[in-house]
Amino acid sequence: METLILSKQDVSKLINMKDAIASVEQAYKAYCSDQVIQPPIVSIDDAEHNGEIDIKTCYSKSEALVSIKCASGYWDNPKRYNMPTLLATIILLDGKNGYPLCIMDGSLITSYRTGAAGGLSARLLAKKDSKKVAVIGAGNQARLQIKAISEVVNIESVSVWDTCKEFMNAYKNDISALLNVSVETCGTSKEAVMDADIIVTTTPSRKMLVMNEWVKSGTHIIAIGADMKGKQEIDPKIFCRSKIYVDSVAQCVERGEIQNAIETGDIEISDIYAELGEVLLGNKEARTNESEVTIFDSTGMGIQDNTLAALIYQKALSSNVGTTIKLL
Ligand code: NAD
Repeated sequence: METLILSKQDVSKLINMKDAIASVEQAYKAYCSDQVIQPPIVSIDDAEHNGEIDIKTCYSKSEALVSIKCASGYWDNPKRYNMPTLLATIILLDGKNGYPLCIMDGSLITSYRTGAAGGLSARLLAKKDSKKVAVIGAGNQARLQIKAISEVVNIESVSVWDTCKEFMNAYKNDISALLNVSVETCGTSKEAVMDADIIVTTTPSRKMLVMNEWVKSGTHIIAIGADMKGKQEIDPKIFCRSKIYVDSVAQCVERGEIQNAIETGDIEISDIYAELGEVLLGNKEARTNESEVTIFDSTGMGIQDNTLAALIYQKALSSNVGTTIKLL
């Protein structure tokens, strides 16, 4: 038997946002149907190099497939090494015998499955007439989140704020070209979020960037950036008046945006309304009125990597993409 090797370029030929959204939907349902063994994430905080490494593993019972992903965020990579901040590698093993089926670049899979999670949450939780999207952070995820949201919402305008003006301007150019919508760069995060129907936060910040009093009723918030202990983007007080959805309760209380609201005592774990998979399975309600504020706290799960990587692997086999090696 052979092992398939898929480079980032190979994966780029096979991946698209529609598939990613369907794949994350499948992943969230599996997670809430006892179809997944997902050990806790192993994290390494590399403060010396302004970086972090996460190792996410998962066994999908229904697919009999094991995935192991090593993903890193080294925030100075673009300036220091002319490399992206996010790098990731995924290994897929046959769950019946442990055979290494595929070794693939995982950076696009991480980007797409994370964007897809935000888009899926907007489909389920944002007001149907949402038009204005605010994005805090102008990096990689800021692009993928908008790409995914545009699959499910008729976006009319995007407002963006980032600490780096140059990144904001590049973002404006990219998103205007991608979607043909008006994109406004803002001088403050307050200016960006004040009139938004959907707010996406996607920075590696460790302090509040969005305050409670700036968020109007009926807003849907997609909290992406906080995926590790110590990260924070939003005011914990926002949670007190919101209906709270998460990808995984176990992960979010430890490393999601919600860790901060629990730590300050603003909310308790029992205040989390649902995991998104429960909504998809019809066991919990989505938004029930136009005025509630909804928050989706995403930390990113091994099963999201597993389902999307499995799809890319199958597509690669059927379209003859990639190279094979004999590892054993
Ligand atoms: P990126 O480096 O491409 O973009 C980050 C952007 O945030 C940059 O434009 C940077 O200038 C800006 N920024 C940095 N610090 C800031 C601050 N304090 N205030 C405002 N802007 C700031 O990174 P990315 O890949 O887009 O990831 C963004 C965040 O999302 C990271 O924290 C990452 O760990 C997290 N993430 C979460 C998931 C998930 O599943 N929830 C998946 C991927 C990434």
